[in-house]
Amino acid sequence: MGTNGALGRKLRMGIVGGGQGSFIGRVHVTAAILDNRAELVAGAFSSDAERSKASAADYAVDPARAYGSYEEMFAKERSLPVGDRIDFVSVATPNHMHFPVAKAALEAGFNVVCDKPLTLTLAEAEALAEIVAKAPGVFAVTHNYTGYPLVRQAREMILSGELGDIQAIRAEYIQGWLRTRLESEGQKQAAWRTDPKKSGAAGAFGDIGTHAYNLGRYMTGILPEKISANLKVFEPGRALDDYGHAVIRYQNGALGTVTASQISHGRENDVRIEIDGTLASLEWHQEEPNKLFLRRNGHPHAIYTRDPNAPFMNAMGKAACRLPSGHPEAFFEAFANIYRAAYDAMELALTGKPFERTNTVYPNVHDGVEGMYFIEQSVASSKADGAWLPLKHPLARR
Ligand code: NAD
Repeated sequence: MGTNGALGRKLRMGIVGGGQGSFIGRVHVTAAILDNRAELVAGAFSSDAERSKASAADYAVDPARAYGSYEEMFAKERSLPVGDRIDFVSVATPNHMHFPVAKAALEAGFNVVCDKPLTLTLAEAEALAEIVAKAPGVFAVTHNYTGYPLVRQAREMILSGELGDIQAIRAEYIQGWLRTRLESEGQKQAAWRTDPKKSGAAGAFGDIGTHAYNLGRYMTGILPEKISANLKVFEPGRALDDYGHAVIRYQNGALGTVTASQISHGRENDVRIEIDGTLASLEWHQEEPNKLFLRRNGHPHAIYTRDPNAPFMNAMGKAACRLPSGHPEAFFEAFANIYRAAYDAMELALTGKPFERTNTVYPNVHDGVEGMYFIEQSVASSKADGAWLPLKHPLARR
């Protein structure tokens, strides 16, 4: 990959989160620098100021730029000249901090890459979308499964009509790690995910159901209309759902299902999706992401492999590959594809040029708002015994 694109220098990254003992911040940093288009120069790595400073060495960040809080980071970085200061902020904190951190970053004039779910509540998400609309910069959301080459390949195949009319989407995200109450044993990632004040209205449905729902929307481009959901808490004493199903009616008459589980023995990060069209059906699994299955009645089943040189790969699929076929690409590379697309837009924004804000290659703030709509309506429907509720999108991506 080319370095130092339109700006003639690397983009400068500041991260909030990613401190010692955390999970996804490290993935953000690795993905962000994979193509040599950015460097990590600053961080508010932890809610604990001492731990934030201690984490700087892990990332080879200048200790002077390991800040005690995100407020301090934005104020100090803003006072530096452009080219020295950070260009963008990655938000890798638990959910309840996404809104305050992203809002402050936008208001300080920085581009933002925020993890999902977008915010704690739908109201916060809608407020954030209004701030993004007025901001000069880019706002990307790491619904990272959309970054896999064969997911992008499938999206282009579907949008170009290869599957015919889309009639059914079956999306699942199945895990087993919360089969017991890890949250009461001091496991940090489990603790905040099962706490409504930090996680939001949903547990499994917010944490991983949103990914499954987003994948179907990104791959097909069809728009939702209504949702009926049943969420359950199976581990006694847990405050938020650890299992659930939703049925979705789409505006074109299609039916979709989303199943999310964190209590299925032995299941790891099994995100899978099947899509039925009038001409063909396809199937993709993130635990085997370099294969895409396409089936047509009366024809041999086809397996698309991730091969950037193959004539069967379309432009979207090819553009998302880094390695020749057979060398497995996976989670880090898919994550890096979100960054790569966001960087293309950031470089336009930082040089005062217009950039696409709705049908972006990367998931954007509207996809994030839609995810929050999905969470809130799933919870509301489940409380009303599975009542059908509207599932709208404020600014629909195709
Ligand atoms: P984690 O608990 O492992 O890490 C959270 C980090 O944020 C910690 O370092 C913590 O100290 C820091 N933090 C908390 N409050 C802060 C503050 N005020 N200022 C600075 N740092 C602060 O959590 P995680 O599993 O890494 O999840 C973080 C976020 O990423 C969540 O929103 C989660 O939903 C999301 N996530 C996304 C994916 C994905 O595939 N896209 C995967 C895992 C997690």
